[in-house]
Amino acid sequence: MQDWVEKLLRVQDLDLRIAKLSKLASSVPAKQEEAENMLASDNRAVDEAKAELLEAEVERKKIDLDMDGHKQKKTDFQAKSAMIKNNEEYRAAMSQIEKCDHQIEQCEEHREGASAVIEEIKRKQLSLNTNLSATKMRVEDKKKDLDVRAANCRAELEKLRAERPSVIGEVDRSWANRYERLRKRLPLGRKDQKVLVPVRNEVCDGCRMNATAQVRMNARKGMLVGCEYCGAMLYTDD
Ligand SMILES: [Zn+2]
Repeated sequence: MQDWVEKLLRVQDLDLRIAKLSKLASSVPAKQEEAENMLASDNRAVDEAKAELLEAEVERKKIDLDMDGHKQKKTDFQAKSAMIKNNEEYRAAMSQIEKCDHQIEQCEEHREGASAVIEEIKRKQLSLNTNLSATKMRVEDKKKDLDVRAANCRAELEKLRAERPSVIGEVDRSWANRYERLRKRLPLGRKDQKVLVPVRNEVCDGCRMNATAQVRMNARKGMLVGCEYCGAMLYTDD
């Protein structure tokens, strides 16, 4: 392998590591947010259940008040009936008391239903609270891990970037310039792409298109040749 190729491959290796680390580092905030969202969603579910419980309790309270009203009415009718002398009035009072009993019974039924709903919500709350505690712990761990990752990435990136000038300084200026131009042209999200690639089995390893015999020959001679299709710098490693 040509000397310049070896040197430039070291630069490229460094650049690819820098690209990979940058990508990893820049993915951290989104992952932090994802973790926060997970927690927010669990918190929301707990709050919703709290509101639901409150509503169900108000509903049951209404039934209780309703029932108290019917009970009071019944007591009033009972007191009144004790003083009635006339049969007809007495029967009417009894019928009212019966009506009250029926209404009280209905209230009791409704109350049972409301209590069942409340119990169901409380059971749900238990499981939601358990979930929330687990999520809190998981999210905290995850955020700690992400902080460590970000710090490690930053430290390594700093080291690699500091290393780079001396590594590319070893490469002959014309090769280095060509390489730098090609790397600069790579779109931001594609910095992990190679711009120095081998020709293998007569094919450019970057774009998989055939390299002409002339290009292959020049590459073998160690000349500066680019792929006619993707523009990558070509070399042969055979
Ligand atoms: Zn190519």
